[in-house]
Amino acid sequence: GTQSARRPGVTVDSSKAKTSLEALKISLRQLRWKEFPFGRRLPCDIYWHGVSFHDNNIFSGQVNKFPGMMETVRKITLSRAMRTMQDLFPLEYNFYPRSWILPEELPLFVAEVRMLKDSNPSWKPTFIVKPDGGCQGDGIYLIKDPRDIRLTGSIQSRPAVVQEYICKPLLVDKLKFDIRLYVLLKSLEPLEIYIAKDGLSRFCTEPYQEPTLKNLHQVFMHLTNYSLNIHSGNFIHSDSVNTGSKRTFSSILCRLSSRGADVKKLWSDIISLVIKTIIALTPELKVYYQSDIPAGKPGPTCFQILGFDILLMKNLKPMLLEVNANPSMRIEHEQELSPGVFENVPSPVDEEVKVAVIRDTLRLVDPLKKKRKDTQLIYDYSYFSLHHCKKCCYSESSMKDKQHKHHSLKLSLKLKFYLKLGSVNQGRCLEQMPGGSAELPEAPASPEAALPSLCLKQVFPKYAKQFSYLRLVDRVAALFIHFLGVKGTTKLGPTGFRTFIRNCKLSNSNFSMAAVDILYIDITRRWNSMGIDHKDSGMCLQAFVEAFFCLAQKKFKSLPLHEQVASLVELCECRLAALHGKRLLWG
Ligand code: ADP
Repeated sequence: GTQSARRPGVTVDSSKAKTSLEALKISLRQLRWKEFPFGRRLPCDIYWHGVSFHDNNIFSGQVNKFPGMMETVRKITLSRAMRTMQDLFPLEYNFYPRSWILPEELPLFVAEVRMLKDSNPSWKPTFIVKPDGGCQGDGIYLIKDPRDIRLTGSIQSRPAVVQEYICKPLLVDKLKFDIRLYVLLKSLEPLEIYIAKDGLSRFCTEPYQEPTLKNLHQVFMHLTNYSLNIHSGNFIHSDSVNTGSKRTFSSILCRLSSRGADVKKLWSDIISLVIKTIIALTPELKVYYQSDIPAGKPGPTCFQILGFDILLMKNLKPMLLEVNANPSMRIEHEQELSPGVFENVPSPVDEEVKVAVIRDTLRLVDPLKKKRKDTQLIYDYSYFSLHHCKKCCYSESSMKDKQHKHHSLKLSLKLKFYLKLGSVNQGRCLEQMPGGSAELPEAPASPEAALPSLCLKQVFPKYAKQFSYLRLVDRVAALFIHFLGVKGTTKLGPTGFRTFIRNCKLSNSNFSMAAVDILYIDITRRWNSMGIDHKDSGMCLQAFVEAFFCLAQKKFKSLPLHEQVASLVELCECRLAALHGKRLLWG
C-alpha cells in the first residue's frame, strides 16, 4: 500500500511462532513492524519459528533457528561436547558437572566413582539422572549409589545423562533456585553472541536441605523446574519482579549485592560460562549448517535465542545445567481460580523479561538498519552490576586484578558520557539512566527513539581475544567439513577420511593406510552403535574429533592434549595450504 511505499517496514512471518506468539506480537507492535500471522505468498524478511529451523521451506531472509540446534543441545550431545572440551581444557570447563552417558558409560561411571571414593573417603556424592530429550524435570531422579540407577525397562530405549549433583547451591530465603538467562547467537560465522542483561530465577517451593536418603525424592526441594513447582501448594505467583516463585535475576543480584557479594565478578563468570559453552557447541552447529544451507545456494541466515539454565553454588560459582534451544517465551501462566478451574493470566515477570529479549533480538537483526558506524559505546562487565543495582547502594569494591581495573576505568568513562548526555538532552539523572544505553539519540520520528536501550549486550567478539585459544575443535571441524566434500551430508565416508590422511600427509611407515582404514572402521562403528543418529552411515563429527585426538597423541606424544591437538591442527592446515597453493581454511 501507500504506507509501505512511504516507509517500507520489516515483514515478519509469525505463522509458526506457536507459544512465543504473544510476546512476538507485543514486540512487533512496539517496533511497528509488519506481522503476517498467516504467512505470506511473497518472502518475508524474518521468519519466527516456535520450534525448529525446518518448520517450512525458506530460501531467503532470516529465521530465528539454526539447523541442528535442538540436536546439539540435547542432554547427551551437550555432555559429549562438554567432555571433549573438559579433556582439552579441564580448568576452563569446570563449570559443567562431571557427567556420564547411560547406558554406554555405566561401567565407566561405576568405575570412576569407585576410584574417586577410594582416593577421597570423605566424598559422599549424590548423582542426578536425567533422561535424554526430557524436559521440565520429566523422569529425573537422585541417587546416592551408582547401583541405584534404574536399569529396568526403559534405559536401553531411553538414554540418559547421570551427573554429579551440586549439593551446596546458593539459597535465597532458604530456597534453592536456578537462573534462566537468554543468550542470542546472532551469527555463527563470524561468531556473535549477546547476553540479555536480565533473566528469570525459578525457585523451589520447599526449604532446601542437602540430599539425604530420606529427602532424595522431594522434587519441590531439589528441582527448580517451574512446571513441577507450580503444582506445589507452596507456589507463589509473582505479582512483582522480586517476590514469589519466579523473579527477575536482577532482583536476586540486588539482594546479593546488598549482602556484600561481588556481583561484578559473578557477571564476568557468567559471561565466560556462556562464551565457553557456545564455543563447545559451534563445531557441531557448523556441520549442520553447511549441510542444511550449503554455501552458494539460496537460503536464509539464522539467529537464535537460547535459554541457559545456570545454578549458583554457595560460593557464587555459576554452574551450567543445560541449554535450551526453545526456551519458553510464554508470558502468561495458568492459575487455579477455584479447585479444578484454570485460567490463563498474564505474568508480568515473564512479560518484562521475554518481550524485551524478543524485541531487542529483532532490533539487532533488523535488515533495514543501515550498517551504522559503530556509534555504540563499549560495554563491559561493570555495566551489568551497575544497571542491576542502580537502586542498591553500590560501594566501590576493591579491584583485585588488572582486568577489573581496566573495566572500572571504562565504566567511569562511560558514566561521564551519560552525565553529559543526561544534562544536555533529557535532563535525566544517573539513577534513571537506561543501563548501558547503546545508541546515541535518534530522530524522534523513528520508533527506535521511543524504545528503551537494548537489553542484549554483545559479549563476543567483544571478549574474543580472551577465548580464541579455546576454539580448537572449531578448526578440527573445519577440516572435517572440508573433507566432507559433497555438500548436504554430515558424515565422512572412508574415502573422505583417506583423502584427509593423504592430503595432510599423516600416513608414514609407522602408520600405514591399512592402519588408517582400521582406525576409521573402529571409531565409526563404535559411534554408530551408540545409536544417537544412525540415519546415514559414515563418521560423524565427534567420531572424527576422537580419531583426530588419537592421531595427535600418536604424533606428539609428550605434550598435554590441547597442545597435541593444536600442533596437529596447525600441521594439517599448513599442509593443506601448501597443497592448495594458498590458505583455504581459517586459522
Ligand atoms: P530439565 O530439562 O528436565 O529441566 P535440567 O537439567 O534442567 O532438566 O534439570 C532439572 C532441574 O534439576 C534443574 O532445574 C535443577 O534444579 C536440578 N538440577 C539439574 N542438574 C543438577 C545438578 N547437577 N545439581 C543440582 N541440581 C540439578
